[in-house]
Amino acid sequence: MPVSEVFDHVSGNVALAARDLAHNWHPCTQMREHDARLPMIPIVRGEGAWLVDADGRRYLDCISSWWSNLFGHAEPRIAAAIAAQAATLNHVMFAGFTHEPAIRLAEELVRVAPRGLERVFFAGDGASAVEIALKMSFHYWHNRGRRERTRFVSLAHAYHGETLGALSVSDLPLYRAVYAPLLLQPIVAPSPDWLDAEPGESAEDVAVRRLQDLRAILQRHAREACAVIVEPLVQCSGGMRMHSPVYLAGLRALCDEFDVHLIADEIAVGFGRTGTMFACGQANITPDFLCLSKGLTGGALAMSAVLTTNRVYDAFLGDYAANNAFLHSHTFSGNPIACAAALATLAIFRGEPVLERNRALTARLSERIAPLRDHPHVSGLRQTGLIAAMDLVADKRSRMPYPGAERRGLRAYLHGLQNGMLLRPLGDTLYFMPPYCITPDEIDRMVETAAEAISAAVE
Ligand SMILES: *Cc1c(COP(=O)(O)O)cnc(C)c1O
Repeated sequence: MPVSEVFDHVSGNVALAARDLAHNWHPCTQMREHDARLPMIPIVRGEGAWLVDADGRRYLDCISSWWSNLFGHAEPRIAAAIAAQAATLNHVMFAGFTHEPAIRLAEELVRVAPRGLERVFFAGDGASAVEIALKMSFHYWHNRGRRERTRFVSLAHAYHGETLGALSVSDLPLYRAVYAPLLLQPIVAPSPDWLDAEPGESAEDVAVRRLQDLRAILQRHAREACAVIVEPLVQCSGGMRMHSPVYLAGLRALCDEFDVHLIADEIAVGFGRTGTMFACGQANITPDFLCLSKGLTGGALAMSAVLTTNRVYDAFLGDYAANNAFLHSHTFSGNPIACAAALATLAIFRGEPVLERNRALTARLSERIAPLRDHPHVSGLRQTGLIAAMDLVADKRSRMPYPGAERRGLRAYLHGLQNGMLLRPLGDTLYFMPPYCITPDEIDRMVETAAEAISAAVE
């Protein structure tokens, strides 16, 4: 055995972290920060809601590894489905060829999706699903002779991924600003975030007011707009900003009235996270495009899908010479192993009362976080299903944030790690988005540790 392997085995975290930092370039990371104060943590194993590092320390995954994990790490049924599929057919190109896992997965997705979404286009990551929805919408209008439609309406604080098209319709300066010269120019509508309520306004009132703003925007821009893109119910990366289903219902009605598409990006909130299978379900609406990823494979493999209507699909049919087909492709579209993981995930939804169990966990979580409402440095405590969030603030009454340079959220993160919790605040927004296999006792422990982390962060 090479010396390095023995060494790694003996010294666990430190040795692996050093080797990692010699070559790996990590996502969403200022690599210079990874020093003794902010260690890179090598994970060797996952067990249910827990991750285990190379020194045997355990971390409760309070954020489902970037919102992807639903039923736990190394979930045995999903793992077995992946292994079996990998030993049978690991991949075949998806143009001209097909396979039963993709056929069954499309059938299953259509079955669980909002009524009317009957076409499924597979891709790799969330961002590629967003690219596809944007391109399909644009191309639909192109094929219909509406070539003046070249723009998209997006929401303030939106996040739809990091590739150039997806980043274009995102509104987080931290990720977007430097690339602005490369990006499409969307028309940005105000966010329906209920924290923006004026005194005396309810979440529904905010939704109605923001719908009026959107109506004015569509009156001016519908002629040049392909679609409105939205993250239904929770704008996750933008700070876990939540809105009323009233906004979604009104948005659907406005898109119909002005004849523009509605793209629902449920990459983060799909698959039971908000209390219903899809967030759109709470407003009883069907978008023209539904983007799915993250939880689609139970968090086991990269895969995404765009669901759309036959109305959209039909606009791409014609003579080959007409050149109106959707020629977009990804090498690993419809990968059979990823399909098998997704089918195993959907089988769990079919076989177990997942949404019912989540409702009980949701109630437990809201009961446990309630006392944090009175914390002198916590503001905007909010929850939608199994997503709960709060903002650390310097002054509670005025909701004044801490100076960014103080990195309060990072302090909370470090406190969490030292105490066996993977909490990864978005700036100073601390949130919980645990896997559905979390137990009530683990919820209690998660919130207790987070409360201590908040105290440590605001000291
Ligand atoms: C994570 C996310 C994306 C991007 O997905 P990737 O797989 O990271 O490319 C897009 N939209 C939303 C709402 C997301 O949360």
